[in-house]
Amino acid sequence: MDCGSSGQAKNGLSAAIISVGDELMLGQTQDTNAKWLASQFTLRGVVTREFRTVHDDLVAIESVLRELSARHDILVMTGGLGPTEDDLTREALRRAMDVVEPLEVDAQALAALDRWFIDRGRPMSANNAVQALRPKGARCLQNIVGTAPGLHANIGRAQIWCLPGPPLEMESMFETEVAPHLPHAVMSTAAVHSFGYGESFLAEILGARMARQRNPLIGTTASGSIVTARIRGVDAQAHSAAMESSIQEIEKLWAPYAFGRDQETLAGALGKLLVLRGERVSLAESCTGGLAASMVTAESGSSAWFAGGAVTYANGAKIDLLQVPHELLAAHGAVSAPVARAMARGCAALLKTQWAASITGIAGPSGGTDAKPVGEVFIGICGPRFEGVKKFRYPGDRASIRDRAAKSALALLRFALLGPEAFASAMIWEWNK
Ligand code: ATP
Ligand code: MG
Repeated sequence: MDCGSSGQAKNGLSAAIISVGDELMLGQTQDTNAKWLASQFTLRGVVTREFRTVHDDLVAIESVLRELSARHDILVMTGGLGPTEDDLTREALRRAMDVVEPLEVDAQALAALDRWFIDRGRPMSANNAVQALRPKGARCLQNIVGTAPGLHANIGRAQIWCLPGPPLEMESMFETEVAPHLPHAVMSTAAVHSFGYGESFLAEILGARMARQRNPLIGTTASGSIVTARIRGVDAQAHSAAMESSIQEIEKLWAPYAFGRDQETLAGALGKLLVLRGERVSLAESCTGGLAASMVTAESGSSAWFAGGAVTYANGAKIDLLQVPHELLAAHGAVSAPVARAMARGCAALLKTQWAASITGIAGPSGGTDAKPVGEVFIGICGPRFEGVKKFRYPGDRASIRDRAAKSALALLRFALLGPEAFASAMIWEWNK
């Protein structure tokens, strides 16, 4: 990669992101700030050339500021702006700017701090007033969601923004104080999410649409068993018709596995279909212990389409709450298609919903047998004029088996709502033996 002799990006501005804090170096906090900032730069055509993480040490912070300001246009540093002893960003910035005068009070920042504490009916400690200090020649940045003001300064040709460590404060300050000084968005991005089919198969379906020189550019990623197509349009393509038609094309090619765009979740997509039909769902969960219900209730507004759920772990609970016949359990075992079917039926009756899904399986690592190994899960769906059960074998540990089973139940409900043809679509973990 050619950064040019000065380190400046050939096209566009060159940036470095610095994360400050012992807790990052000790592996106690994950550095989500750097990732978020890099994505913001990318959107605006600013090229992130370096990431640095430094511990809470004056000399270390000062030297990284000196070093990186010599070869980048933009430095954004997060953390170390609070009121405590280990918050050293202000002093390190003063030294890196070669300012000999001690830190000085910023009257406006002090007034804002005063107001913050008065509004909350709390006294401001002397500690907190420290946050209104800044090096001579630097500017304080307003913090709308917290107390610590940010700082802006120039060292040579580099512009330096120091933002608070807490992600919400950092993001808000970036939007109000940093983004207006960056180039406008030159890139638009969109995502199409899918569940139930393998990434390699899904990528194959997209074929030449994933060619690297294409605009908009399409790539796939996988996380938590959700396979996502990421679509990036550059320059004049931003928000263009080409973007939208690519998105629609992927949704069609990935049907019925594609369930939503951008921030949409599996549960949210299911909710949309139920709301359209004015119907509600309930969940009967054994090995997932309420995980599917938790995914559903994470969706704001889910009370319109979700009645509730029953965590029926022991056979007795399946019998007492869901009216699963004792004989069925004795004949087939709790992890079986007939029991999954009966659980779904019983749940719909108990909670008076048109739709219900049931999940019964072996999450492991113990409890598996040759006939019913760890990872074997039955999911039952019942709805108006519809009933179906599918058998799955999920690989992985207990957490991933439970996660995939809960997501599969939501996906199968969605398939069932779309119709029998969608319900018949094979999922990658289905086991039809
Ligand atoms: P505060 O006033 O809260 O002390 P600060 O600007 O001094 O803010 P830090 O003390 O460095 O920031 O970090 C405060 C908290 O912010 C950390 O405990 C951590 O939870 C979060 N945080 C800091 N840096 C990062 C980062 N790079 N990524 C994600 N979270 C972070
Ligand atoms: Mg702090």
